[in-house]
Amino acid sequence: MFVIPTRRILVVEDEKDLAELVAFNLKKHGFQAVTVGDGGSALRVVAQQLPDLIILDLMLPVMSGLDVARQIRTNPKTAAVPILMLTARGDETDQLAGLSAGADDYVTKPFSMKVLLARVTSLLRRTPGNDTDGSILTIGPITADLGAHLVMVDGQDTKLTLTEFKLLAALLGAPKRVLSRNELIGRVMGPGVVVTSRTIDVHVAALRKKLERAGGMIRTIRGVGYQLLDAPPQAEGSRAVTADSSSAPL
Ligand code: CA
Repeated sequence: MFVIPTRRILVVEDEKDLAELVAFNLKKHGFQAVTVGDGGSALRVVAQQLPDLIILDLMLPVMSGLDVARQIRTNPKTAAVPILMLTARGDETDQLAGLSAGADDYVTKPFSMKVLLARVTSLLRRTPGNDTDGSILTIGPITADLGAHLVMVDGQDTKLTLTEFKLLAALLGAPKRVLSRNELIGRVMGPGVVVTSRTIDVHVAALRKKLERAGGMIRTIRGVGYQLLDAPPQAEGSRAVTADSSSAPL
């Protein structure tokens, strides 16, 4: 009953048999599926058809899956498309590299179709179109429109991946509270998704970078998780250049 019909999924995989098997199973479950075997074709299809989700193999000829992910994330038009990356089993380096390049989630090879479909469905369920919560949250210089999937920092539009957005929304929804890594994984990746804590750390690092000066508001609580402060911490020496701050020392 949670199957969302006619969502378009792009499968980027150079192993033709595997690509066809994935596409066959996606179609069987009510999705539209397009397969391509290399990164260049993937970028063309993404630009032309803007799929609802991309299943992207890491190991591709010519252009790697990481480069494809990075290019998709750099283009404002495609920056928010969910990416599920296929990586080698047990290679944490590949998995973390995939997340750093902008993937929202990954599945390790060899995988069962059941697992792949579950992750696809979970990723699609948390896409902006399914967000009925239209509330707008503002803390310090950060404003997030949860329904429209928009984030502004100091009034500037900030492009986040789906996972980064969900992470920020979870933090904005619990200001000053310390959220454990497990709590964040549950809120961001969906219930029942098994990932390592390092996964959240990589997403937080990417989010901090994109938030620029507001990134410092996300505080690491060592051994526990993360906490959102209500304002960016004052950088050393920046007090002197703040126009309206009192000249009196602290
Ligand atoms: Ca491959």
